[in-house]
Amino acid sequence: MLILLTNDDGIFAPGLIAMYRELTRMGEVHVVAPETVQSATGHGVTLYTPLLTNQVRVEDTFTGTAVGGRPADCVKLAVAKILPKAPDLVVSGINSGANVGINVIYSGTVAAAIEAAFLGLPSVAVSLYLRAEVPTDYARSATLALEVIEDALDRGLNGGECISVNLPALRPGQSPAGVRIVRQCVRPWTDTYEQRIDPRGRTYYWNNSVFTLGETESDTDVAALRDGYVTITPLQFDLTKYEMLERWGRGGSNKARRHEGT
Ligand code: MN
Repeated sequence: MLILLTNDDGIFAPGLIAMYRELTRMGEVHVVAPETVQSATGHGVTLYTPLLTNQVRVEDTFTGTAVGGRPADCVKLAVAKILPKAPDLVVSGINSGANVGINVIYSGTVAAAIEAAFLGLPSVAVSLYLRAEVPTDYARSATLALEVIEDALDRGLNGGECISVNLPALRPGQSPAGVRIVRQCVRPWTDTYEQRIDPRGRTYYWNNSVFTLGETESDTDVAALRDGYVTITPLQFDLTKYEMLERWGRGGSNKARRHEGT
């Protein structure tokens, strides 16, 4: 099995290295990942500047291609030019930090997986919920992620299908509460900005919002992750709001009707 591994935290990130080590049990793993941190860059792609690449040796574990671009660029470039053939699976992560709720929209980790789905490949985004009071254990998280990925493949993850997996913050010896397949919570964050003055007297703002897994409906990714479950959310990239398409399409607007050749 040929696996493409990428992320948004950069090719030297500990979560990617841990995931690489586990994925080699499943097949041949090729790493094509951003050279620098690309968190919260969403589904951006690079069109007006070149994509510089470097072969880099990472922790004596693998040699991968570092790309001076976004996570979605990495997937496009890997599939179009770098890999010997189309991968059987694309994995993005393990991200440092949860990608639940509305963060799915901002996440470069998820964007890379969605890009793979665009290209007709099966893909998995993996993110780890970080909590200050719980030591971060990427190796253990990667072992857990591999179990979830193998299970997903058994269940049937087809080309063009994408799942986002979030792993809970576990204390040493603690097990997850279970695995839940859940929908994305769509509550907004509360945005906060620190206001400062620069040396020339101009006002600038710095987003210092902290996303917490607060109150939400019980069937969402946010609730399940908060309660210690591994969460799986199947994602789609068709953003069409079908209910509105139906509602507006049925009536049609007066202006649109005037242009119809009656
Ligand atoms: Mn990240």
